[in-house]
Amino acid sequence: MKANRIHNFNPGPAALPLPVLEEIQASFLDFEGTGMSITEISHRSKQFEAVLNDAIDRTRRLLQLDDRFKVLFLQGGASLQFCMIPMNFLRDGENADYVNTGTWSTKAIKEARILNKQVQVVASSEDRNFSYIPREIAFTPDAAYVHITSNNTIKGTQWPAFPDSGAIPLVADMSSDILSRRFDASKFGMIYAGAQKNIGPAGVCMVIIREDMLTRVPATLPTMLSYTTFADKNSLYNTPPCFAIYTVQLVLRWLEDTIGGLAPMAALNRRKADVLYGTIDASEFYRGTADTDSRSLMNVTFRLPSEDLEKRFVAQAMENGLGGLKGHRSVGGCRASIYNATPLAAVEALVDFMRTFEKKNG
Ligand SMILES: *Cc1c(COP(=O)(O)O)cnc(C)c1O
Repeated sequence: MKANRIHNFNPGPAALPLPVLEEIQASFLDFEGTGMSITEISHRSKQFEAVLNDAIDRTRRLLQLDDRFKVLFLQGGASLQFCMIPMNFLRDGENADYVNTGTWSTKAIKEARILNKQVQVVASSEDRNFSYIPREIAFTPDAAYVHITSNNTIKGTQWPAFPDSGAIPLVADMSSDILSRRFDASKFGMIYAGAQKNIGPAGVCMVIIREDMLTRVPATLPTMLSYTTFADKNSLYNTPPCFAIYTVQLVLRWLEDTIGGLAPMAALNRRKADVLYGTIDASEFYRGTADTDSRSLMNVTFRLPSEDLEKRFVAQAMENGLGGLKGHRSVGGCRASIYNATPLAAVEALVDFMRTFEKKNG
Protein backbone atom coordinates (compact mmCIF):
# COMPACT_ATOMS: atom_id res chain seq x y z
CA MET A 1 0.00 0.00 0.00
CA LYS A 2 1.12 3.55 -0.71
CA ALA A 3 2.46 5.15 2.47
CA ASN A 4 -0.07 7.97 2.51
CA ARG A 5 -3.18 5.93 1.67
CA ILE A 6 -5.32 4.63 4.50
CA HIS A 7 -7.50 1.54 4.76
CA ASN A 8 -10.75 3.11 3.65
CA PHE A 9 -14.04 1.74 5.04
CA ASN A 10 -16.19 4.66 3.89
CA PRO A 11 -19.85 3.84 3.12
CA GLY A 12 -20.00 6.02 0.01
CA PRO A 13 -18.42 7.54 -1.88
CA ALA A 14 -16.15 4.66 -1.09
CA ALA A 15 -12.78 3.11 -1.86
CA LEU A 16 -11.91 2.46 -5.49
CA PRO A 17 -9.41 -0.17 -6.65
CA LEU A 18 -5.91 1.32 -6.48
CA PRO A 19 -4.99 0.19 -10.04
CA VAL A 20 -8.03 2.13 -11.31
CA LEU A 21 -6.93 5.33 -9.57
CA GLU A 22 -3.41 4.87 -10.89
CA GLU A 23 -4.66 4.39 -14.42
CA ILE A 24 -6.78 7.54 -14.17
CA GLN A 25 -3.74 9.43 -12.92
CA ALA A 26 -1.51 8.11 -15.67
CA SER A 27 -3.92 8.89 -18.51
CA PHE A 28 -5.41 12.08 -17.15
CA LEU A 29 -3.54 14.61 -19.30
CA ASP A 30 -3.49 12.62 -22.51
CA PHE A 31 -6.31 10.16 -23.02
CA GLU A 32 -5.37 7.52 -25.59
CA GLY A 33 -3.16 9.82 -27.63
CA THR A 34 -5.79 12.53 -28.06
CA GLY A 35 -3.62 15.13 -26.34
CA MET A 36 -6.64 15.86 -24.15
CA SER A 37 -8.03 14.65 -20.85
CA ILE A 38 -11.07 12.37 -20.86
CA THR A 39 -12.77 15.33 -19.15
CA GLU A 40 -12.04 17.52 -22.18
CA ILE A 41 -13.30 15.43 -25.07
CA SER A 42 -16.72 15.31 -26.67
CA HIS A 43 -19.22 12.79 -25.40
CA ARG A 44 -19.90 12.16 -29.09
CA SER A 45 -16.25 11.41 -29.90
CA LYS A 46 -15.31 7.89 -30.93
CA GLN A 47 -13.03 7.68 -27.89
CA PHE A 48 -15.84 8.34 -25.43
CA GLU A 49 -18.27 6.14 -27.29
CA ALA A 50 -15.77 3.29 -26.97
CA VAL A 51 -15.57 3.90 -23.20
CA LEU A 52 -19.35 3.91 -22.87
CA ASN A 53 -19.87 0.81 -24.98
CA ASP A 54 -17.11 -1.09 -23.22
CA ALA A 55 -18.70 -0.29 -19.85
CA ILE A 56 -22.03 -1.56 -21.19
CA ASP A 57 -20.50 -4.73 -22.69
CA ARG A 58 -18.63 -5.55 -19.50
CA THR A 59 -21.78 -5.08 -17.42
CA ARG A 60 -23.67 -7.38 -19.78
CA ARG A 61 -20.98 -10.08 -19.53
CA LEU A 62 -20.49 -9.80 -15.78
CA LEU A 63 -24.20 -10.05 -15.03
CA GLN A 64 -24.90 -12.43 -17.95
CA LEU A 65 -27.65 -10.16 -19.23
CA ASP A 66 -29.62 -11.45 -22.18
CA ASP A 67 -30.57 -9.34 -25.22
CA ARG A 68 -33.71 -8.00 -23.57
CA PHE A 69 -31.70 -5.82 -21.21
CA LYS A 70 -30.40 -2.33 -21.80
CA VAL A 71 -27.65 -0.81 -19.65
CA LEU A 72 -28.08 2.92 -19.13
CA PHE A 73 -26.14 5.62 -17.31
CA LEU A 74 -28.23 8.37 -15.75
CA GLN A 75 -27.64 11.32 -13.45
CA GLY A 76 -29.49 12.27 -10.27
CA GLY A 77 -28.14 9.38 -8.22
CA ALA A 78 -30.08 6.39 -7.02
CA SER A 79 -32.42 8.86 -5.33
CA LEU A 80 -33.83 10.15 -8.63
CA GLN A 81 -34.80 6.56 -9.46
CA PHE A 82 -37.11 6.55 -6.44
CA CYS A 83 -39.49 8.83 -8.35
CA MET A 84 -38.63 7.79 -11.92
CA ILE A 85 -39.61 4.18 -11.26
CA PRO A 86 -43.25 4.87 -10.33
CA MET A 87 -43.50 7.65 -12.96
CA ASN A 88 -42.37 5.27 -15.71
CA PHE A 89 -43.82 1.93 -14.63
CA LEU A 90 -46.94 2.54 -12.57
CA ARG A 91 -50.07 3.51 -14.46
CA ASP A 92 -53.16 5.02 -12.88
CA GLY A 93 -55.21 2.41 -11.09
CA GLU A 94 -52.28 0.02 -10.78
CA ASN A 95 -50.49 -0.98 -7.63
CA ALA A 96 -46.84 -1.65 -6.91
CA ASP A 97 -45.52 -3.74 -4.02
CA TYR A 98 -42.63 -2.47 -1.92
CA VAL A 99 -40.61 -4.29 0.71
CA ASN A 100 -39.38 -1.88 3.36
CA THR A 101 -35.98 -2.93 4.67
CA GLY A 102 -34.52 0.37 5.78
CA THR A 103 -33.75 4.00 5.14
CA TRP A 104 -33.46 3.77 1.36
CA SER A 105 -36.58 1.63 0.88
CA THR A 106 -38.48 4.08 3.07
CA LYS A 107 -37.40 6.91 0.79
CA ALA A 108 -38.39 4.98 -2.34
CA ILE A 109 -41.88 4.42 -0.88
CA LYS A 110 -42.18 8.06 0.13
CA GLU A 111 -41.34 9.29 -3.38
CA ALA A 112 -43.93 7.04 -5.00
CA ARG A 113 -46.56 8.32 -2.57
CA ILE A 114 -45.66 11.97 -3.25
CA LEU A 115 -46.72 11.22 -6.84
CA ASN A 116 -50.04 9.87 -5.56
CA LYS A 117 -49.15 6.40 -6.80
CA GLN A 118 -50.69 3.31 -5.25
CA VAL A 119 -48.03 1.57 -3.27
CA GLN A 120 -48.46 -1.38 -0.92
CA VAL A 121 -45.83 -2.16 1.68
CA VAL A 122 -46.13 -5.95 1.57
CA ALA A 123 -43.38 -6.61 4.12
CA SER A 124 -41.29 -4.53 6.48
CA SER A 125 -38.63 -5.04 9.12
CA GLU A 126 -39.28 -1.69 10.74
CA ASP A 127 -40.55 -3.39 13.93
CA ARG A 128 -36.95 -4.19 14.89
CA ASN A 129 -35.15 -1.15 13.44
CA PHE A 130 -34.64 -2.95 10.12
CA SER A 131 -32.21 -5.46 11.59
CA TYR A 132 -33.42 -8.30 9.38
CA ILE A 133 -34.75 -9.20 5.92
CA PRO A 134 -38.42 -10.27 5.98
CA ARG A 135 -39.24 -13.77 4.71
CA GLU A 136 -42.60 -15.15 3.56
CA ILE A 137 -43.85 -12.21 1.57
CA ALA A 138 -47.38 -12.21 0.14
CA PHE A 139 -47.12 -10.27 -3.11
CA THR A 140 -50.21 -8.67 -4.64
CA PRO A 141 -50.99 -10.86 -7.67
CA ASP A 142 -51.58 -7.99 -10.12
CA ALA A 143 -48.81 -5.70 -8.88
CA ALA A 144 -47.01 -3.80 -11.65
CA TYR A 145 -43.68 -4.53 -9.99
CA VAL A 146 -42.09 -5.41 -6.66
CA HIS A 147 -39.45 -3.02 -5.33
CA ILE A 148 -36.68 -4.24 -3.04
CA THR A 149 -33.38 -2.86 -1.75
CA SER A 150 -30.88 -5.68 -2.18
CA ASN A 151 -28.38 -4.40 0.38
CA ASN A 152 -29.24 -2.00 3.17
CA THR A 153 -26.18 0.19 3.40
CA ILE A 154 -27.16 1.86 6.65
CA LYS A 155 -28.76 -1.01 8.57
CA GLY A 156 -26.20 -3.63 7.50
CA THR A 157 -28.58 -6.22 6.06
CA GLN A 158 -28.69 -7.90 2.64
CA TRP A 159 -31.07 -10.28 0.91
CA PRO A 160 -29.27 -13.65 1.05
CA ALA A 161 -31.38 -14.78 -1.92
CA PHE A 162 -33.95 -12.80 -3.87
CA PRO A 163 -37.66 -13.39 -3.29
CA ASP A 164 -39.71 -15.35 -5.79
CA SER A 165 -42.24 -12.83 -7.09
CA GLY A 166 -43.54 -15.16 -9.81
CA ALA A 167 -44.53 -13.24 -12.92
CA ILE A 168 -44.26 -9.84 -11.23
CA PRO A 169 -41.06 -8.07 -12.29
CA LEU A 170 -38.57 -7.36 -9.54
CA VAL A 171 -37.15 -3.85 -9.39
CA ALA A 172 -34.10 -3.58 -7.18
CA ASP A 173 -32.00 -0.82 -5.72
CA MET A 174 -28.59 -2.50 -5.79
CA SER A 175 -26.60 0.65 -5.07
CA SER A 176 -24.46 -0.94 -2.39
CA ASP A 177 -23.99 -4.49 -3.65
CA ILE A 178 -24.24 -4.50 -7.44
CA LEU A 179 -21.58 -6.74 -8.99
CA SER A 180 -20.56 -8.12 -5.60
CA ARG A 181 -22.04 -11.58 -6.26
CA ARG A 182 -23.82 -13.66 -8.88
CA PHE A 183 -27.58 -13.78 -9.25
CA ASP A 184 -30.14 -14.52 -11.92
CA ALA A 185 -30.78 -11.14 -13.52
CA SER A 186 -33.52 -12.48 -15.81
CA LYS A 187 -36.09 -12.18 -12.99
CA PHE A 188 -35.55 -8.45 -12.75
CA GLY A 189 -37.49 -5.83 -14.69
CA MET A 190 -35.00 -3.24 -13.57
CA ILE A 191 -31.85 -2.96 -11.50
CA TYR A 192 -30.30 0.36 -10.53
CA ALA A 193 -27.26 1.46 -8.58
CA GLY A 194 -25.70 4.77 -7.69
CA ALA A 195 -22.10 4.11 -8.69
CA GLN A 196 -20.35 5.57 -5.66
CA LYS A 197 -20.51 2.51 -3.43
CA ASN A 198 -19.37 -0.43 -5.47
CA ILE A 199 -18.62 0.53 -9.06
CA GLY A 200 -17.28 4.05 -9.37
CA PRO A 201 -17.43 7.66 -8.29
CA ALA A 202 -20.48 9.75 -7.47
CA GLY A 203 -22.34 11.37 -10.34
CA VAL A 204 -23.68 8.43 -12.29
CA CYS A 205 -26.38 5.85 -11.69
CA MET A 206 -26.35 2.57 -13.58
CA VAL A 207 -29.83 1.50 -14.72
CA ILE A 208 -30.37 -1.94 -16.21
CA ILE A 209 -33.78 -2.21 -17.74
CA ARG A 210 -35.63 -5.08 -19.40
CA GLU A 211 -37.35 -4.14 -22.65
CA ASP A 212 -40.86 -5.18 -21.58
CA MET A 213 -40.68 -2.55 -18.82
CA LEU A 214 -40.18 0.15 -21.47
CA THR A 215 -43.62 -0.61 -22.93
CA ARG A 216 -45.07 0.76 -19.68
CA VAL A 217 -43.44 4.19 -20.02
CA PRO A 218 -46.05 6.92 -20.63
CA ALA A 219 -45.38 9.29 -23.54
CA THR A 220 -46.41 12.23 -21.35
CA LEU A 221 -43.33 12.29 -19.15
CA PRO A 222 -40.80 15.12 -19.33
CA THR A 223 -37.99 14.01 -21.66
CA MET A 224 -35.32 13.82 -18.97
CA LEU A 225 -37.52 11.72 -16.67
CA SER A 226 -38.38 9.05 -19.22
CA TYR A 227 -36.32 5.87 -19.49
CA THR A 228 -37.24 5.70 -23.18
CA THR A 229 -35.17 8.83 -23.84
CA PHE A 230 -32.01 7.20 -22.54
CA ALA A 231 -32.75 3.74 -23.92
CA ASP A 232 -33.31 5.11 -27.44
CA LYS A 233 -30.12 7.20 -27.41
CA ASN A 234 -27.69 4.80 -25.68
CA SER A 235 -27.52 7.22 -22.70
CA LEU A 236 -26.38 10.01 -25.04
CA TYR A 237 -29.53 12.13 -25.26
CA ASN A 238 -27.68 14.94 -23.50
CA THR A 239 -24.15 15.16 -22.09
CA PRO A 240 -23.67 12.22 -19.75
CA PRO A 241 -21.29 12.28 -16.76
CA CYS A 242 -18.33 11.25 -18.95
CA PHE A 243 -15.66 11.08 -16.28
CA ALA A 244 -17.80 9.04 -13.91
CA ILE A 245 -18.69 6.60 -16.71
CA TYR A 246 -15.01 6.31 -17.63
CA THR A 247 -14.15 5.42 -14.03
CA VAL A 248 -16.94 2.84 -13.98
CA GLN A 249 -15.47 1.33 -17.16
CA LEU A 250 -12.08 0.98 -15.46
CA VAL A 251 -13.63 -0.58 -12.35
CA LEU A 252 -15.49 -3.09 -14.51
CA ARG A 253 -12.30 -3.89 -16.40
CA TRP A 254 -10.50 -4.47 -13.09
CA LEU A 255 -13.35 -6.68 -11.90
CA GLU A 256 -13.45 -8.72 -15.08
CA ASP A 257 -9.77 -8.92 -16.08
CA THR A 258 -7.86 -8.63 -12.79
CA ILE A 259 -10.24 -10.24 -10.29
CA GLY A 260 -11.64 -12.68 -12.85
CA GLY A 261 -15.36 -11.92 -12.67
CA LEU A 262 -18.18 -12.30 -10.20
CA ALA A 263 -17.43 -15.79 -8.89
CA PRO A 264 -13.97 -14.94 -7.52
CA MET A 265 -15.24 -11.51 -6.44
CA ALA A 266 -18.07 -13.12 -4.46
CA ALA A 267 -15.67 -15.60 -2.86
CA LEU A 268 -13.37 -12.77 -1.81
CA ASN A 269 -16.28 -10.74 -0.46
CA ARG A 270 -17.48 -13.77 1.52
CA ARG A 271 -14.00 -14.28 2.92
CA LYS A 272 -13.69 -10.64 4.00
CA ALA A 273 -17.09 -10.71 5.70
CA ASP A 274 -16.30 -14.03 7.42
CA VAL A 275 -13.07 -12.61 8.87
CA LEU A 276 -14.90 -9.57 10.23
CA TYR A 277 -18.07 -11.26 11.50
CA GLY A 278 -15.92 -14.07 12.90
CA THR A 279 -14.06 -11.52 15.01
CA ILE A 280 -17.30 -9.92 16.17
CA ASP A 281 -18.92 -13.27 17.01
CA ALA A 282 -15.86 -14.53 18.92
CA SER A 283 -15.98 -11.52 21.23
CA GLU A 284 -18.31 -10.37 24.00
CA PHE A 285 -17.05 -6.84 23.46
CA TYR A 286 -18.30 -6.31 19.92
CA ARG A 287 -21.92 -7.01 19.04
CA GLY A 288 -23.35 -7.17 15.50
CA THR A 289 -26.60 -5.25 14.98
CA ALA A 290 -28.12 -7.34 12.18
CA ASP A 291 -29.66 -10.81 12.52
CA THR A 292 -27.12 -13.45 11.55
CA ASP A 293 -29.15 -14.77 8.61
CA SER A 294 -29.66 -11.27 7.18
CA ARG A 295 -26.19 -9.83 7.56
CA SER A 296 -24.69 -7.77 4.79
CA LEU A 297 -21.42 -8.86 3.25
CA MET A 298 -20.85 -5.23 2.24
CA ASN A 299 -21.70 -3.12 5.30
CA VAL A 300 -20.80 -4.66 8.65
CA THR A 301 -22.57 -2.85 11.49
CA PHE A 302 -21.57 -3.38 15.10
CA ARG A 303 -21.73 -1.85 18.55
CA LEU A 304 -19.29 -1.62 21.42
CA PRO A 305 -20.31 -1.73 25.11
CA SER A 306 -20.76 2.07 25.34
CA GLU A 307 -21.05 5.11 23.12
CA ASP A 308 -17.94 6.51 24.72
CA LEU A 309 -15.96 3.42 23.70
CA GLU A 310 -17.40 3.66 20.20
CA LYS A 311 -16.15 7.23 19.89
CA ARG A 312 -12.69 6.24 21.06
CA PHE A 313 -12.70 3.19 18.77
CA VAL A 314 -13.42 5.31 15.70
CA ALA A 315 -10.85 7.95 16.65
CA GLN A 316 -8.08 5.50 17.51
CA ALA A 317 -8.80 3.47 14.37
CA MET A 318 -8.23 6.62 12.33
CA GLU A 319 -4.92 7.20 14.11
CA ASN A 320 -4.00 3.70 13.01
CA GLY A 321 -4.82 4.33 9.36
CA LEU A 322 -8.32 2.81 9.40
CA GLY A 323 -10.91 5.32 8.21
CA GLY A 324 -14.67 5.59 7.73
CA LEU A 325 -15.78 3.37 10.64
CA LYS A 326 -18.42 5.58 12.23
CA GLY A 327 -21.90 4.09 11.99
CA HIS A 328 -24.88 5.95 10.55
CA ARG A 329 -26.62 8.00 13.22
CA SER A 330 -29.84 5.98 12.86
CA VAL A 331 -28.07 2.80 13.99
CA GLY A 332 -25.23 4.30 16.02
CA GLY A 333 -22.05 2.44 16.73
CA CYS A 334 -19.68 1.43 14.00
CA ARG A 335 -19.87 0.32 10.41
CA ALA A 336 -17.16 -1.10 8.20
CA SER A 337 -18.07 -0.90 4.53
CA ILE A 338 -16.15 -3.60 2.71
CA TYR A 339 -17.19 -3.25 -0.90
CA ASN A 340 -15.50 -4.97 -3.84
CA ALA A 341 -12.52 -2.61 -3.84
CA THR A 342 -11.64 -3.20 -0.18
CA PRO A 343 -8.77 -5.71 -0.10
CA LEU A 344 -8.66 -8.60 2.36
CA ALA A 345 -5.52 -7.00 3.84
CA ALA A 346 -7.60 -3.99 4.92
CA VAL A 347 -10.06 -6.24 6.75
CA GLU A 348 -7.17 -8.13 8.39
CA ALA A 349 -5.68 -4.83 9.55
CA LEU A 350 -9.09 -3.88 10.97
CA VAL A 351 -9.58 -7.10 12.94
CA ASP A 352 -6.03 -6.82 14.32
CA PHE A 353 -6.89 -3.35 15.55
CA MET A 354 -10.23 -4.59 16.96
CA ARG A 355 -8.49 -7.31 19.00
CA THR A 356 -5.90 -4.88 20.34
CA PHE A 357 -8.60 -2.33 21.22
CA GLU A 358 -10.64 -4.99 23.02
CA LYS A 359 -7.60 -6.14 25.05
CA LYS A 360 -6.96 -2.60 26.21
CA ASN A 361 -10.56 -1.64 26.89
CA GLY A 362 -12.52 -4.87 27.39
C1 LIG B 1 -26.39 5.49 -1.11
C2 LIG B 1 -27.65 4.81 -1.46
C3 LIG B 1 -28.69 5.47 -2.12
C4 LIG B 1 -28.63 6.94 -2.47
O1 LIG B 1 -27.80 7.14 -3.54
P1 LIG B 1 -27.60 8.60 -4.19
O2 LIG B 1 -26.78 8.26 -5.40
O3 LIG B 1 -26.90 9.43 -3.18
O4 LIG B 1 -28.92 9.14 -4.53
C5 LIG B 1 -29.82 4.76 -2.45
N1 LIG B 1 -29.94 3.46 -2.15
C6 LIG B 1 -28.96 2.78 -1.52
C7 LIG B 1 -29.13 1.33 -1.21
C8 LIG B 1 -27.78 3.44 -1.16
O5 LIG B 1 -26.81 2.77 -0.53
